[in-house]
Amino acid sequence: MPKTPQDILKMIQDEKIKIIDLKFIDMPGIWQHCSFYYDQIDESSFIDGVPFDGSSIRGWKAINESDMSMVPDPNTAWIDPFMQEKTLSMICSIKEPRTGEWYSRDPRSIAKKAVEFLASTGLGDMVYIGPEAEFFVFDDVRFDQTENKGYYYVDSVEGRWNSGREEAGGNLGYKPGYKQGYFPVAPTDTLQDMRTEMLLTMAQCGVPIEKHHHEVATGGQNELGFRFAPLIQAADYLMTYKYVIKNVAKKYGKTVTFMPKPLFNDNGSGMHTHQSIWKGEQPLFWGDGYANLSKMALHYIGGLIKHAPALLALTNPTTNSYKRLVPGFEAPVNLAYSQGNRSASIRIPLSGTNPKAKRLEFRCPDATCNPYLAFAAMLCAGIDGIRNEIDPGEPLDVDIYDLSPEELSKIPSTPGSLEGALSSLEKDHTFLTDTGVFTEDFIHNWIEYKLYNEVNPMRLRPHPYEFALYYDC
Ligand code: GLN
Ligand code: MG
Ligand code: MG
Ligand code: MG
Repeated sequence: MPKTPQDILKMIQDEKIKIIDLKFIDMPGIWQHCSFYYDQIDESSFIDGVPFDGSSIRGWKAINESDMSMVPDPNTAWIDPFMQEKTLSMICSIKEPRTGEWYSRDPRSIAKKAVEFLASTGLGDMVYIGPEAEFFVFDDVRFDQTENKGYYYVDSVEGRWNSGREEAGGNLGYKPGYKQGYFPVAPTDTLQDMRTEMLLTMAQCGVPIEKHHHEVATGGQNELGFRFAPLIQAADYLMTYKYVIKNVAKKYGKTVTFMPKPLFNDNGSGMHTHQSIWKGEQPLFWGDGYANLSKMALHYIGGLIKHAPALLALTNPTTNSYKRLVPGFEAPVNLAYSQGNRSASIRIPLSGTNPKAKRLEFRCPDATCNPYLAFAAMLCAGIDGIRNEIDPGEPLDVDIYDLSPEELSKIPSTPGSLEGALSSLEKDHTFLTDTGVFTEDFIHNWIEYKLYNEVNPMRLRPHPYEFALYYDC
C-alpha cells in the first residue's frame, strides 16, 4: 500500500520519533544526508521540500544560485538500523525552490522522467529492473589520500592489495582456489554470518530480499539478491543495498568496495541488470522470436547494442570500470546477445514457459554507476531501439574461441576506457535528450565532470606498474 505524508506524520507521533534523516543521491551516485528534529517536517515538506545549500554538492549548483529543496518520498520510509537514536529515514528528490520544478540535474527526477516518457510513448507503462551488484569485502583499505600522492595501490606493482586479503601463509586447505570462490560451504566460506546479517537488515529497510552467496573471485567477493522492482524503486533498493552492506561490514571491522576491478587478474564486480517492459498485467518481452523473445524485446536489444559505446559512459562511469571489461573473467566484452554465452553483453536468462519471467540481462553495468541515471539511460536506449525497429543482428551462440580473427573482428566490443565512452556519449546522445529525460546541460556537465575529476587526474599520476615497466630503463 502506498504511504501518504499523513501516514508518515502519524508514524512519527505514534512511535515518538525525534530524528528524521533525509537522504538524496548526488550526481556521481553517493547518498548525501541531513537530519532534522521531527517538528521541522510537516505536510508541506512533502510538497515544497526542505531547503538546503546545493553549492557544495558535486556537479550541482554554483554558489550564487545555491538554494535547493529536498522532497521526501513517503514510500521510502524506514527506521535506519545503524543509528543509536530511533531515526526515520526517507529518500528525497530535488526541487528548484524558486520555480517549484524538479531539478534537471537530480538523478532521481531524471529517472522519474524516464518512466513518464515510457508511458507517453504508449509502448508500455512499467519497466521492471533487477540489478545484481557484486562487491568485495576487505579487512583493511590502505591507500594514500594525501593531496600529492593520489589514490592508488601502494603495496605491489601487481596492483594487489596486500592488506586487503587474507594473507597467504599457514595451511591453505580452507582457502578458495583461484577463481573458485563460487561457492564452497564453510569453513572455506568465512563470510556467511556477515552476509546473512546484511540480507536480514536489508529486509528491515523494506527491500524484498531473496538470497546471498560468495562470488567467483578467490576470496571476499559476494553478492546479495533482491527481487526486481519498478525502475525508481529498484534504484532506491540498490542504494539501500549499498548502504546496508557497507554499514554491516563496518560493524565487523571490514570495509566493502563496489569498484569493478579491485584485484588485478581476478574476477571483477559487475552489476548485471535484468529488464523487461510491461503494459498492465501483460509482459511484453515474451514472444515467438529467438529464445522466446518478442519483436519488442529484440528491438530493445538492438537499441542497447547500438548505443552501448555511449551508454556505458553512464552505466560504467569510472576509469576502473574498463579494467573489468576484459576477456577471461565472465565480464562482457562483445556487444552482442545470446541465451547462454556469458561473454556477450546481453544474456537471455532461461525462463521456462513463464511469459512473466521473460527478460533480458544487460551484463555491462557495474555498481560505480548512479543507478537512477543508468536505469533511465538503458530504458531510453531500449525505447529508441523499439521505436526505430533496430535489428539486433544474429545472436552470438558460438564459443568465441572457435571464431576466426576475421569473424571476431565483426563483433563490436565494449569501449576500452572511460575516455572512449565519454567521447562516444558526446557524439551519440540524442537518444537520451530527444526524449526530454536528459537535458543537453546534464550530458555536457557529466562529460566535463568525469573528464576533469576522474580521467585527467588518473592520467596525470604515475602508476605503480609504470615503475615495474620503466624504472630501470
Ligand atoms: N563477476 C562477473 C562480472 O564481472 C559476473 C559473474 C557472475 O555473476 N556470473 O560480470
Ligand atoms: Mg547473480
Ligand atoms: Mg554474480
Ligand atoms: Mg547475472
